[in-house]
Amino acid sequence: MKIYEGKGVFPGIAIGRLSVYKKGGQQVKRLKITDAETEVARFEEAKVRAVKQLQVLYDKALCEVGEAKAAIFAVHQMMMEDDEYNGSVKNMIRTQEMNAEYAVAATGDNFAQMFASLDDDYMKERAADVRDISERIITALSGTDKGMEAAKEPSIIVAEDLAPSETVQLDKDMVLSFVTVQGSLHSHTAILARTMAIPALVGTPLPLDETTDGKLGIVDGSSGKIYVDPDGQTLAEMKIKQQKDSERKELLKTQKGRENVTRDGKKVMLYANIGNIKDLEAVLQNDAGGIGLFRSEFIYLERESSPTEEEQFQIYKHAAETMAGKRVIIRTLDIGADKQCGYFKMEREENPALGCRAVRFCLTRPEIFKTQLRALFRASVYGNIAVMYPMITSVKEVKRIQEIVALVKAELTEQGIDYAEPEQGIMIETPAAVMVSDELAKEVDFFSIGTNDLTQYSLAIDRQNTKLDEFYDAHHPAILRMISMVVEHAHRAGIWAGICGELGADQSLTQEFLAMGVDELSVSPESILPLRKIVRETNVEEYKAAYRI
Ligand code: PEP
Ligand code: MG
Repeated sequence: MKIYEGKGVFPGIAIGRLSVYKKGGQQVKRLKITDAETEVARFEEAKVRAVKQLQVLYDKALCEVGEAKAAIFAVHQMMMEDDEYNGSVKNMIRTQEMNAEYAVAATGDNFAQMFASLDDDYMKERAADVRDISERIITALSGTDKGMEAAKEPSIIVAEDLAPSETVQLDKDMVLSFVTVQGSLHSHTAILARTMAIPALVGTPLPLDETTDGKLGIVDGSSGKIYVDPDGQTLAEMKIKQQKDSERKELLKTQKGRENVTRDGKKVMLYANIGNIKDLEAVLQNDAGGIGLFRSEFIYLERESSPTEEEQFQIYKHAAETMAGKRVIIRTLDIGADKQCGYFKMEREENPALGCRAVRFCLTRPEIFKTQLRALFRASVYGNIAVMYPMITSVKEVKRIQEIVALVKAELTEQGIDYAEPEQGIMIETPAAVMVSDELAKEVDFFSIGTNDLTQYSLAIDRQNTKLDEFYDAHHPAILRMISMVVEHAHRAGIWAGICGELGADQSLTQEFLAMGVDELSVSPESILPLRKIVRETNVEEYKAAYRI
């Protein structure tokens, strides 16, 4: 068995024969021509044919993947009509007396190199598009049809690279997955794969020879791995994973697009927890109503130095734009305890879980806090961002945060920098916060209960210590009563309360949470649809009558 790692562009497991796809390998020879105008006319005719082919591809893509994704073929048509591109081809034919094929290939190469050398990532990607249109015109000049050879059995296509036009021509019934050696996560090929919902990898360094072709393969789109000639154990494990995937897809079919509403009309928000913008794909796929917890500390933890305001702004803006108006709750930096950041040179502590973590760190290092707040307030212009402060124990802390927020807003205004004021809420994850939640509720826009820490601090159990697992009882009546109390205090003050700790995904408690009036559950993306199913099957009043006093 050989394992190669690339970048997964769409999750899911595909198991099947590997089929190496080699392009026509258009060897374009330079020929000397005598009649330049006839050659220019050949080029024009070929272009007309190529534009027609693109129209067919556009129509196919429109049906299969929608207008936005089909637009690439309209863009290709426009590129073919580009004055500079056409001028370059004709000029080469006329001044250098070369055949149309060679002039198109040379122009395609020049333009592709020019795009590839630009700083802008989006423009870099256009290099592949200009190569694609040039190849299409060359094929039209040679009179041979361009297209993927029809596979004889459903297989995993492996290729050096696939142009968008090749990707859309894939017969979905015959292609289990595709894997390319080249390609980036932002290329149109990757975008099309996502929309076609095929497990796919790009940037995968695997050999395109007999060691791959015809062998059995497994593509795992989530881990970005391809297993060539897998051993029995891997095959068995992956089949189980595939089975789970298909169950999830079934759930998706019945639950996607449905409201999170109980049989007696109680609505609840089902949001997703994420640690990285890479998770946004899963959030959308699982039909989350928003993001209930974006653990921003991972942005800090995965690097060698503190992320700048601009870097953070771009990340938050991207999340807000991707979620297109849905709420994105970004939790401010929660480091300390088990999450240490070397470059902040945090002091060693005897009891780090009870130490300078989360909001305590931010309040003692206001410059770091202010940088993050500036980025968050600036990004709020681009969508529905909400900010959430972790590890709150008192109203005093909230007031100190409010003072810093006021400073940040004043500075942004003075500097003429665009910002919007997001909703601001707090995490309820200490017993102290629970006990003063009636007071806290008057200060903030929402509560989100962090049951992981709430259990740790209430039961006096280190959540990191696996030896204590048998004592870590998140169903402890004390925890459930605290949740109920927090919800009640929130509602009395007219704000909403949710749960973003792991307990929120515990299906054995979903009905109990609904009975308590919990307004939101924020869980890992895969847990959303199973919870929706339970919500839709529940009648809260009947449940209360049957199980509560
Ligand atoms: C929690 O404590 O429940 C929580 C959601 O935060 P974290 O797990 O990141 O501490
Ligand atoms: Mg916590």
